[in-house]
Amino acid sequence: MRYLSTRGHPERRRFSDILLEGLAPDGGLYLPETYPQVDAATLARWRRVYHEQGYAELAFEILSLYIDDIPADDLRALLRKTYTAEVFGTGEIVPLRHLEDGLWLEALSNGPTLAFKDMAMQLLGHLFEYELARRGETLNILGATSGDTGSAAEYAMRGKRGIRVFMLSPRGRMSPFQQAQMYSLMDANIHNIAIEGVFDDCQDIVKAVSADLDFKRRWHIGTVNSINWARLLAQVVYYFAGWIQATERDDQRVSFAVPSGNFGNVCAGHIARMMGLPIERLVVATNENDVLDEFFRTGVYRVRGSADTYETSSPSMDISKASNFERFVFDLLGRDAAATRALFADALARDGRFDLSAHPAFAQVRDRYGFVSGRSTHANRLATIRDAWERFGVLIDPHTADGVKVAREYRQSGVPMIVLETALPIKFAATIVEAIGREPERPARFAGIEDLPKRVQVMPADAERVKAYIESVCRQS
Ligand SMILES: *Cc1c(COP(=O)(O)O)cnc(C)c1O
Repeated sequence: MRYLSTRGHPERRRFSDILLEGLAPDGGLYLPETYPQVDAATLARWRRVYHEQGYAELAFEILSLYIDDIPADDLRALLRKTYTAEVFGTGEIVPLRHLEDGLWLEALSNGPTLAFKDMAMQLLGHLFEYELARRGETLNILGATSGDTGSAAEYAMRGKRGIRVFMLSPRGRMSPFQQAQMYSLMDANIHNIAIEGVFDDCQDIVKAVSADLDFKRRWHIGTVNSINWARLLAQVVYYFAGWIQATERDDQRVSFAVPSGNFGNVCAGHIARMMGLPIERLVVATNENDVLDEFFRTGVYRVRGSADTYETSSPSMDISKASNFERFVFDLLGRDAAATRALFADALARDGRFDLSAHPAFAQVRDRYGFVSGRSTHANRLATIRDAWERFGVLIDPHTADGVKVAREYRQSGVPMIVLETALPIKFAATIVEAIGREPERPARFAGIEDLPKRVQVMPADAERVKAYIESVCRQS
């Protein structure tokens, strides 16, 4: 399998070459040259594999179709090390729970940091360590986080050989639980930097450091952001696992509802569907930051400025543009790289928007690709959390609530609707208290984490200071 860029760069690359990279050299995103196709016999076999041998083995079946430059035994060993009951809390790894008539929750947030990002990031940690050892290289991961991504990256990379993490977060702006999760890590290779500023300041610093190519090369600076292909690929697996658990027959269709921000999670669903998984609808749920809902309703994709990006009570979906969206548009336009480039490199840079409403492809968004969308507000979120709690005794987090709210608008009889649970309520306790008047339950392993000693460097929003810090850490060890 080789990978191409959505913007037409002529080079074709292998999995392990793009594993440690972000964007393609032309600014595009990597996608496989083709999507491997699975037929009914393969689906039937994978159903048995999941039930009899477990999630890691199902992941091996799927990932080995996309990865041919890691020996099969090594890949299998990495997957078995990643997807264990010990790390993810259950043998099913992503158990399905019935909520109400026709509606299910697929639990993706029982990993170390209680958000679905662990599903991919845990694998990335093992893949990075493996590939760096194979090359005799080291990597310094520099990232910016407003919460979930940073902690998922740190818990995946802690103690990994050849890897250091430098994670910038806006000082005092994450929930106390999230701050404690990150800052209480004492691993020598994890470096938390609290920036005196907001998330955008953190992101600007990462961009400034990455733009200094000399510094970047000298200190082996890399990222783990949501456009990484390996993260997307890891997420494809749980769409298959969800379908297997919700159906008994191999021709039975299901729909998925996905709380969305950067379009990474639901893009994995799109890939599963393109491979032949019988998915009826992919329901994109947004919060008040409705860039994606606007596109799926109108055909207009309009990036927001920071003044129009709201701080909401489902903060992990507070985005101004959806960084993985280009992958879907590339497929939608019949994989026309020149057309994709004209939209994402030219029109967005010039106008901050593009309009496909009159394009013949836009009619296919729903009919051929199964996409529909909806949006949810703070009031919807509270009402949905309260309703699930009062009627079913099930407590869901604010992001998952956005998913449930929109899922209900698209239910079809005879088609199970699976809502992806993207975080556990304890991460967002203040909103839960607002909805139901009591604190969410806390898994025992997180008892009292707010009181643990913290290891964090506070720094002004100054890229030069961050560079100097990275340099001094790298020189010392
Ligand atoms: C990251 C995140 C999302 C959004 O996922 P995307 O892949 O960016 O669309 C939704 N919910 C939670 C809890 C998250 O952490």
